[in-house]
Amino acid sequence: MPDDLLAHALAAKGFMPPDEGALLHRVARERLPFGPALEVGTYCGKSAIYLGAAAREVGGPHGTVFTVDHHRGSEENQAGWEHHDPSVVDPELGLMDTLPTFRRTIARAGLEDRVVAVVGRSTTVAAHWRTPLSLLFIDGGHGEQPARDDYESWAHWVVRDGLLAVHDVFPDPADGGRPPYEQIYLPALASGAFEEVDAVGSMRVLRRVSGAAGDRLG
Ligand code: SAH
Ligand code: MG
Repeated sequence: MPDDLLAHALAAKGFMPPDEGALLHRVARERLPFGPALEVGTYCGKSAIYLGAAAREVGGPHGTVFTVDHHRGSEENQAGWEHHDPSVVDPELGLMDTLPTFRRTIARAGLEDRVVAVVGRSTTVAAHWRTPLSLLFIDGGHGEQPARDDYESWAHWVVRDGLLAVHDVFPDPADGGRPPYEQIYLPALASGAFEEVDAVGSMRVLRRVSGAAGDRLG
């Protein structure tokens, strides 16, 4: 991870520990030469800097990261919940809006030509998505339904030999919420299409070992 961008990533608002971000950066460096990466769950752009740093290093048309978010926050980001931050509420609408903070973060990091924001609900964007992905990073809503939806809408776009990274995977319920583990990680392995290749903290990295992008998973 280049030092200048690491400083931006560490300073950015969000939920990505440095060692897990470093893994994300490493797998993005490996995979971006083969096609674009997509992240579900932008928030304020912290993880997008780790991905965008790899995109800058890879360069060319393949050095592109799409990041999808409606920017209204997950359940756990809303007022009264554990991960709420009142500084990312739109005062007029009284709704969360992380898009302005994201834009400032990515502009300051000099990554606007590498990181492309797609603003909308994950399932809506996925329904119209047609591009094979060399790397998919799922870090969106952590409720049961959102996690299952993200897996079912996006995982089949990973190319053979491509990678699926999943954040907040906690096999032990004492460590955190279940849905990324139960609705994404376990089904991906059970499908037979993915095998685990790396893990740091709550980050899990799986490689697609069968099928082709766009094939429905078992
Ligand atoms: N990757 C970020 C953290 C993401 S937090 C970081 O590095 O800090 C999860 C994000 O998922 C929130 O910003 C929330 O708005 C978004 N999200 C939750 N459910 C979503 C959905 N159904 N469609 C699009 N975005 C969603
Ligand atoms: Mg996360």
